[in-house]
Amino acid sequence: MKNKEQYLQLKQVEYSDATMNDQQAIILEKASGSLVWDIEGQEYVDLCAGFGSLPLGHNHPVTQDAFLKSTGNDSELVQGLGDVYASRDKVQLLSTLQCILPSHLGRGGLTVTGSQAVELALRTACLATGGEGFICFSGAYHGLDLGLLPLVGRSDFRGTCSLLQPSYPVTRLDYACSKNQVLAAIKQLEKAKTKVAAMIVEPVLGRGGIILPPTKWLWMLHEVCQASSILLIFDEIFTGLGRTGLITHASKVPCDLLCLGKAIGGGMPLAACFGSKKVMSAWPQGRSESSYTGTFFGHPLSCRVGLATIKHIVADKLVHRSNIFGQEALEELKRLLSHFQIVKDIRGKGLMIGIEFYESGCGVTLMEKLRAKGVIAIPSGEKGQCLSITPALNIPKEILFQSFQKIAEALKEV
Ligand code: PMP
Repeated sequence: MKNKEQYLQLKQVEYSDATMNDQQAIILEKASGSLVWDIEGQEYVDLCAGFGSLPLGHNHPVTQDAFLKSTGNDSELVQGLGDVYASRDKVQLLSTLQCILPSHLGRGGLTVTGSQAVELALRTACLATGGEGFICFSGAYHGLDLGLLPLVGRSDFRGTCSLLQPSYPVTRLDYACSKNQVLAAIKQLEKAKTKVAAMIVEPVLGRGGIILPPTKWLWMLHEVCQASSILLIFDEIFTGLGRTGLITHASKVPCDLLCLGKAIGGGMPLAACFGSKKVMSAWPQGRSESSYTGTFFGHPLSCRVGLATIKHIVADKLVHRSNIFGQEALEELKRLLSHFQIVKDIRGKGLMIGIEFYESGCGVTLMEKLRAKGVIAIPSGEKGQCLSITPALNIPKEILFQSFQKIAEALKEV
């Protein structure tokens, strides 16, 4: 079976925008750790780890074991009834998250996708404050569900369905803007009598091009929000659970609501929103049906695989590794690539690294050149001006550094 054949078959069935239009696209068939193989048997180093959703890499024994055990008698899976009866798996996962998160984030809930976790945070913020307005940042990505689309900082993503988008008040500030700019925006909102529910921020801009704010910027946001009675939401769907060398930035800077996703399910669809007990208690306490639930919220298999993954991240000290090894990897990339004229910046935190180019679209060009060299990496940034490197937290040094050599080779061809 050929990649091309399968790709064309896909394009016969799927709507045109669902998978990137790319005649050279590969169809993946096999994977182990940080390596994947396409259906023609070609091997690739995976520098994306399923958009960051595979902290242990592909088919890690720990997640495999969780799958296998799920067919055994002692540990049969029970699909609980969403908001009616919980499964034991869901209880265990939520309790474990409560243990590893900062104590001020004492209550939470599970969803299937990251977008839904953001939606849960937004709804909570509105309920808890009685507000309706939000402050967000340029370049941000919070998912593409309609309810949160106005908060997405990338105009290319907001562009579709503009007629259907909700019209709650949104103030968008530059990512990493000054304190004065934030204060001025809040003053404006007060003047317009807009009650702001929350400010939502990615502690490191992920899809927006791996942008790190200045030190203390998050702290400044926390202080300003506190002073203005605005809730602060950290969207750590990409950055959380070790990606940036921390379980969460909320352990350094308090936030009111925290969204986790991707890594939390170890490759299974799972996400969460945690908040302070006070904020989360805004939800009704009654015996009626939940007003925000879903058939597969807290799916037992996702919870089981997620729990095994989180336990392994902790036991194997992968958060610490991401921090230390991430710095080493960044140094190595700088050593290999800094002298290329087209490279504007190389930056990162933990194992979330970005290479920015002067030219728009250069990340896309590089993605294609790297694929031909057996490396999978994807572009980021509104203009495709960056290449993102977000490998599994346990990627072997040799494999990662060999792929860096390939990036240097690819750059020579651009
Ligand atoms: N927030 C951030 C910061 C993300 O990176 C993403 C996914 N890339 C989302 C939210 C949305 O998550 P999902 O795709 O699971 O809905």
